[in-house]
Amino acid sequence: MSQSLTKLTSNLWVYQSELYFTNSGIFLDDGQACLIDPGIFPQEIKMIKGFVGEKQAEPQSLVITHSHWDHILGSEFFPGVNIITQDNYLKEISGGNETHILKQIKKWQTECEVERTQPFEIPKPDQTFNKEMQLSVGNLSLFHAPGHAADQLVVYQADQGVLWAADMLSDLEIPFVSDNLAAYQATLIMLSTFDIELLIPGHGFLTKEKTDIHTRISEDIRYLQELKDKVEQAIRAGFSLQETIEVCSSLQYRHPEDNAGPHRLNVESAYLELGGDADPALVGWNKMDGES
Ligand SMILES: [Zn+2]
Repeated sequence: MSQSLTKLTSNLWVYQSELYFTNSGIFLDDGQACLIDPGIFPQEIKMIKGFVGEKQAEPQSLVITHSHWDHILGSEFFPGVNIITQDNYLKEISGGNETHILKQIKKWQTECEVERTQPFEIPKPDQTFNKEMQLSVGNLSLFHAPGHAADQLVVYQADQGVLWAADMLSDLEIPFVSDNLAAYQATLIMLSTFDIELLIPGHGFLTKEKTDIHTRISEDIRYLQELKDKVEQAIRAGFSLQETIEVCSSLQYRHPEDNAGPHRLNVESAYLELGGDADPALVGWNKMDGES
């Protein structure tokens, strides 16, 4: 690992993983630390833990922004630290979902040759919330922000205008609508009312530029609205899923060379959500293995 932690504000540091440009946050406040999705590879998590130790801070809470496998790996290195998630996390890690998450982690461990001495256990939260929760460390607010995942949350530090956007508002990715399109749209409308000076996506690069922050939000709102309109029109016209995919190929979105796959999954999931006739076992995000 050649990367290190970057100081962003007087009390926030960020670490970017070499996998999927995934960001981890460390808020330090008066000898206490609040960790956000801390790390993917064991050596990254150890580096974050070492950093907190160097700063002589006590980890108080560990926030898991959502239950996708690449966001839940850090907590086992911080035993006893208060794990916080949104209420839906418990449902998202139970039953068939648990098997799915563990399978994804196994796949990554094999591909990246990550060695373990004991099997990974999905972390259980010590504290959950429904709509909103306040944390004293860093004076943070957590808000339920579904759409990408039913249990997704964002972290907002109002006094500094910092928004930790979980898996949204990336400069690299389009919205991955792997939970619900209507919920994703409502979440973005909520975030568009926040005063944001610093935007940190779960994957990709942060921005402090007002125009960039505004563009990321407005572009994603536009993309989702056009997606909804086009899929709705197609269903009304009696189009098949394949015909709907073709209609939606004219939609504009960022980095089409990288995001054609996620866009297609968005169309498939929207088609199902809006009442189109297709088999959810075969199409859309939820038939997938390995997505973030
Ligand atoms: Zn995710």
